[in-house]
Amino acid sequence: MASQIARRLVILGAPGSGKSTIATRIVKAYGMPYIVAGDLLRQNIKQQSEESRTMKEYINKGLLIPDDLILKFLVDELEKNREQGFLLEGYPRTLNQAEMLYRQMKVDHVIAIHVPADEIINRLKDRWFHLSSGRVYNLLWRPPKEAGKDDITGEPLAQREDDKPAVIRHRLNAYNKNINPIIQFYKQLGILQDFHGRESDKIWPEVKNYLDHILKEPMNQKVAV
Ligand code: ADP
Repeated sequence: MASQIARRLVILGAPGSGKSTIATRIVKAYGMPYIVAGDLLRQNIKQQSEESRTMKEYINKGLLIPDDLILKFLVDELEKNREQGFLLEGYPRTLNQAEMLYRQMKVDHVIAIHVPADEIINRLKDRWFHLSSGRVYNLLWRPPKEAGKDDITGEPLAQREDDKPAVIRHRLNAYNKNINPIIQFYKQLGILQDFHGRESDKIWPEVKNYLDHILKEPMNQKVAV
């Protein structure tokens, strides 16, 4: 097959917006490499590399890793997939990161998921985590097979202190403060597409329509999503 222009996609969405759900469906449907900043950081920390020590300090304090450090960390993974294209999640989180990434390599399309705050607050209060892998469960719609235990390892699940409504509201405000300039940046470049909704199942078909259009390649229709 003639090689297709690389599509470098970024997905943006607040914590609890269902961004990962949509991202997973995109990757399933179109088969591009999936780069998740938070997951790569967790893997790296598990391997106890030299560079991960500093980053771990920021993560443990709930702070963003400095812009130059996080890009340096991600750059190999991004470069490895430069020609093939990718879907990037969890980066950028600051305007500076967006600009640094764009200098490193052009992004083709940005998908911004917008879900109302009250919906997010409702979802997050029932969220449980398997801390070492980052696997997420939700008691309402994706409960673990055995109550309180991770499906794969059987280890105990934990709830985040900051999944309480007041704290979520605060996190969403902080997220919006950071994300708005990023959205403006991509809007000015003419590469941002907004998707609004309350349910991933309603947002997903719109994202798929959009991607079918821009990727133009026939996709695997058999994929159950
Ligand atoms: P969350 O931010 O919801 O806790 P993530 O898995 O996306 O979950 O990220 C975990 C931590 O990794 C963040 O709290 C932050 O410290 C760090 N991190 C992830 N992505 C970035 C980024 N783009 N820039 C700076 N720090 C990041």
